[in-house]
Amino acid sequence: MNITILTLFPDMFTGFTTNSIMKRALGKGVATINVVNIRDFTKDKYGRTDTPPIGGGAGLIEKAQPIVDALASCRKENSHVILMSPRGKTYDESMAVSFAKEQDLIIVCGHYEGIDERVNDYVDELVSIGDYVLTGGEIPAMAIADSVIRLLDGAITAESLTDESFNGNLLEYPQYTEPYEFDGKTVPDILYSGNHAAIEKWRRKQSLLLTKEHRPDLFAKLELTKADKKLLAEAESGETPKWEKDALEKGKKFLHR
Ligand code: SAM
Repeated sequence: MNITILTLFPDMFTGFTTNSIMKRALGKGVATINVVNIRDFTKDKYGRTDTPPIGGGAGLIEKAQPIVDALASCRKENSHVILMSPRGKTYDESMAVSFAKEQDLIIVCGHYEGIDERVNDYVDELVSIGDYVLTGGEIPAMAIADSVIRLLDGAITAESLTDESFNGNLLEYPQYTEPYEFDGKTVPDILYSGNHAAIEKWRRKQSLLLTKEHRPDLFAKLELTKADKKLLAEAESGETPKWEKDALEKGKKFLHR
């Protein structure tokens, strides 16, 4: 997959593409990121890319011509072009999954007070990353590129993706690592039981409970299975269910104390 980012501030992407998982994924050829400087396309005799809004008002508005020409320089027949905009559809994991299926994604970043309205006619959709205003579309573009690239084959392990938050409208279960005790708080014993079926069941229950508590909107969308309902009823009763007691009993030899 190729991602092209159109921006007035290409240097902002240097750290993004040269660190951590993005660096590794790009190095392995999982995706390519191409950053295009909109300024290189201006035909303004003073080299300007932004001027005050017509009709008055604060700040500077990016001119349409440099953006539209920058877009023409990299757009292909199969490109999907998105414009970062507070007015856009709010980005979520299902959009990340759909963008990850594109061969060629072009992300246009606005800056300053925004961009000339007429640019909207040259893009496929407007995308917002939430109901707040940032100084530019660069951070939103990084959020989108990051969330899309990590879904591509070879970026991270497939297992990391399956249990993750928002997969099937569920939040991820709580995760722990060493040591067993930290600041008086311990890791749930079931995770040491060695009983993978019981661990999976416990994690599913925690996911259901966390989603219900933190994201009732997602919880309402869940199609609860019979087993899910049983897990929730168990939690409501406040008692440790038999399957969990059995797993703990049988797994005693694994317990880290
Ligand atoms: N004046 C504009 C308004 O009130 O809607 C805000 C412009 S904002 C300061 C400059 C640029 O940052 C926008 O053109 C857009 O590309 C980007 N931007 C800001 N907030 C964003 C958000 N929540 N989602 C996506 N892009 C955003």
